Amino acid sequence: MIPYGRQNINDADVQAVVEVLRSDFLTQGPAIPRFEKDVADYCGARYGVAVSNATAGLHIACLAAGLGPGDWLWTSPNTFVASSNCALYCGADVDFVDIDPVTYLMSVEALERKLQETPQERLPKIVVPVHFAGQSCDMVAIKELARKYGFLIVEDAAHSIGGSYRESKIGSCRYSDMTVFSFHAVKVITTGEGGMVMTENEELYQRLIRLRSHGISRDVELLTEKDAGPFYYEQLELGFNYRMTDIQAALGSSQMLRLDQFVARRHELVSRYDELLADLPLKLPFQKPDSYSAHHLYVVRVDTGRASRSRRQVFDAMRDAGVLVNVHYIPVHTQPYYRRLGFDWGQFPEAEQYYREAITLPLYFDLQENEQNHVVESLRLAFEGIP
Ligand SMILES: *Cc1c(COP(=O)(O)O)cnc(C)c1O
Repeated sequence: MIPYGRQNINDADVQAVVEVLRSDFLTQGPAIPRFEKDVADYCGARYGVAVSNATAGLHIACLAAGLGPGDWLWTSPNTFVASSNCALYCGADVDFVDIDPVTYLMSVEALERKLQETPQERLPKIVVPVHFAGQSCDMVAIKELARKYGFLIVEDAAHSIGGSYRESKIGSCRYSDMTVFSFHAVKVITTGEGGMVMTENEELYQRLIRLRSHGISRDVELLTEKDAGPFYYEQLELGFNYRMTDIQAALGSSQMLRLDQFVARRHELVSRYDELLADLPLKLPFQKPDSYSAHHLYVVRVDTGRASRSRRQVFDAMRDAGVLVNVHYIPVHTQPYYRRLGFDWGQFPEAEQYYREAITLPLYFDLQENEQNHVVESLRLAFEGIP
């Protein structure tokens, strides 16, 4: 069986974890600030706040930005449900902006049109661009619209650590207020479960730190009771326990050392796929010239105009051939939960059409060329209909 994604753990990663297990601190120790600094330095951002997963990161990013009841958050329908659930956790409302049919990223034209057509009191407080598959959204244009319409930008960069946009690493927050990474095991680097919120803004940073840990602070300047004693802390707002462990953070720092290598290998495999699949009735992923993708996913679309097989037929044939293809994503607005909120099929036609045709092929650091050849051969046979 060839999975669609898989982590790579080497001896140095194992060693890093073992060292923490033998140390004094399993959590709230020195590995967390070290990992935060490693990621912040890599991205060129001032601050990183490690969290238990990216979903938690998106939640506290929204809270730190002041999102609450009566506010709106807009994101792409072509994403994992966490990108929009974060708004609902805050009691805010969600809406979506359709994707560009070529890049599968939030369409800037659709965003601008929707902003123009939306009454002032329903304009978004936060827009969450999702760097789908590892490729950056058009951040210059989105930033420009943010200035004009007064929304904050939280980048969902769960797919894209190690990628860059123009001259900046994704995570630098050069074009946004906060950026959220995921370190789930299928992502580009992993801590098992884990995430990080990046920001350049000191005030947001302080709130993120507090919200990650119950809303509690020991910062004397913020306390109402100034000299109650060294044991003293105050809960200043309602926060959560969204902390990462030191065990995970040590693994993260060790993985960071190989991030560029991971992404470079993904690029090699993507180039091979591009070549080997060129003559099949597929739409291959488009690479934007302004973006260096982290290539979390390699998604092909079954070209329904040219192909004699449906996406479902191709998908089933691949699974029968031992290739664990996947689909990213079922449009979020079509989920039963979201339909109960009033969304329905037909609202975001580009995301829906994309979904009907998309298949995610295996792509990960350890994917061997003979395995990749098997994926390509299986696809070829799927179209020819030979079992
Ligand atoms: C994986 C993922 C998330 C959630 O990440 P977790 O760390 O699993 O919480 C959010 N958004 C996107 C686009 C993802 O792919």
